[in-house]
Parts: sequence; structure tokens; C-alpha cells
Amino acid sequence: MASQLPDFIEPLSGGVYAIDTGFHRARFDAAYLIVQQGRAAFVDSGTNYSVPRLLQALQALGLARTAVDHVIPTHVHLDHAGGVGLLMSELPHATALVHGRGARHLVDPTALYMGATAVYGAEEMERSYGRLVPVPAERVQATHDGQTMDWHGRMLRFIDTPGHARHHHCLWDSTTRGWFTGDTFGLSYRVFDTDAGAWVMPTTTPVQFEPDALKHSIGRLIEADPQCMYLTHYSRVDEPRAHARRLLRLIDEMVAIGQRHSALSADQRHQAYKADLRECLLQDLRRHGLAERLITDGTADDWLALDVELNAQGLAIWIDKQAQREGSSARQG
Ligand SMILES: [Zn+2]
Repeated sequence: MASQLPDFIEPLSGGVYAIDTGFHRARFDAAYLIVQQGRAAFVDSGTNYSVPRLLQALQALGLARTAVDHVIPTHVHLDHAGGVGLLMSELPHATALVHGRGARHLVDPTALYMGATAVYGAEEMERSYGRLVPVPAERVQATHDGQTMDWHGRMLRFIDTPGHARHHHCLWDSTTRGWFTGDTFGLSYRVFDTDAGAWVMPTTTPVQFEPDALKHSIGRLIEADPQCMYLTHYSRVDEPRAHARRLLRLIDEMVAIGQRHSALSADQRHQAYKADLRECLLQDLRRHGLAERLITDGTADDWLALDVELNAQGLAIWIDKQAQREGSSARQG
């Protein structure tokens, strides 16, 4: 059967499938389908434009739309949750399981859409995301830290994982001893795989990057002694402990970059952050054993450009928030 699956479906082990949502570029943005005793759950959805692939995946695996019990966005950023409303309109029995801070945004996506439009502009929003479909409130359930569920004999658990976003939870799957990590455990593009394995980098994107919280969340994921991590960008990585060490080190390096250049104008600072982030990541890729050819021929820059841009924005927002906080506590003190 596996040989007949469309090429955007990657069967992993233990009834877990990675589905390439097609968002932005190939092998960039995954949604997952977990299948247990003929029942199914999606983790993340990609955008509205990903929904046909997700429905096709059900069909290819011989699952009816009525077999889907849950749609579980890891957080409500649009590359993870933009398609949840449209997807659920096609899945009559599914409930959405979402972090408590994200629930209202599924029910009324107006604020989410406006916020993203402020960053990307109306034209880009239409092209990349389309109109967000609200989910009826009675089909949305908020999760809480430590919540467990016995899903047809498969034990699942949620934990609250702030640091990338305050509306982020991660899902533990006891069957495969893996976490569905959204963006909390960083990003790993398959183009950067080497003999040393996968390369994982943290994300500091806007607007809720909080390094201390992120490091704490990564520590909690590792405490469960996982065997693998299911990243949205992109797919499963093994050896979580080694990746966690790299993530913690890179978070510190990125924070140090954020603390430089404070004397520059906003635009100069943004350019300086971008240059430093690029250098930091390329240096680490070299350390990881990436073929020099992939750096000199522009492949690495091609894959990193979007993250370098967004991480520079996120660092600036975090630094400015800190400065405001220090300023207001100094005035109060
Ligand atoms: Zn995100």
C-alpha cells in the first residue's frame, strides 16, 4: 500500500504520517496524521491551500472523513493552524484541541488575520493563506498543561510550551515516544542532513519569542526521554538530546546577537542582525559537516533567508520589549 501513496505523504512508524502541506516550498511545512485503530487525528493543518492534500491523504489511507476525531494545531500561527477551520468543515466528527490562549482565535479568527495582515500585507495574505474559516465554539476544546487522554488505547499528553509563542502546546505520543513539537523544538530542513544526521535550529520569530521560556520548554520535552520529535518544519528527527544541546547553544548565540547593535537605527540594526544571524547559522552548518558546495552555491542562503529575516524581526521585538520593561521598572523604582 505504501508504494501507492501520493509522494507528499511520508509514512513514518507507529501509524504516524507526515504530509507535506506544500506551503511556501516542498518539504518546508508538515501536517501529521496519526492513525489508531481505524481512527485518525491531524496535528497541524498548514493553510487553507493545504486542506485538499490533507483530505487526499485520508482517502489514500482508506480513512473516511468521519474517522477523524481531532484536529490539533500546536499553536495558532497560520502555517500551522490557518487551515484548521476549513479542514474541520469537511470533518463532521472532529473537535479541535488547542492551547487555552489559542482557542478564541479559532472561533473568531479576525484578530489573527488582522495581525498577520499587518506583517505581510493584504495581497500576500490572500495569496498565501486565504480567508480564515471560523470553527464553531462547541467544536473547540482548550487543553491544559499535563492533560492526558486515552485515545483508543493510545496515551496522549499535552504540555504548555511557551517560548516560541504563548499559545503553544506540544503533544506527547506514548506509542512512538515522540513529541509533536510545532516550532518549540526549532526547525530542521532535510537539505541540511549530513553524515552527522539532522541539523536543528531554533526560531526566534515574532512576536512572542522569550528565550528563557523557550529553553525551559525544551528542557521539559527532553525530561520525558523522547525517542523522536515531529517538527512541523520539517518532519521527524531522532536523537532529541543531541538536538536539544545544539538548540540551547544556538538560542544563547542568537540572544547575544540580539544584545548587540543597540546604538544603531532600527533599520541598520535589522540589517546587522540579519548579517550576524546568517553568519552564526552558516558557521554552525559547517560545524555540522555541511558540504561547502551547498554554502557557496547559495543553497544554504536560499533555505535560511526567510528564517534569517523573521528571526531578526523577532529578536528586535524581544529586545525592545525588554528595554521597555527595564525603563518602566526604573521609573517605578
Ligand atoms: Zn510558529
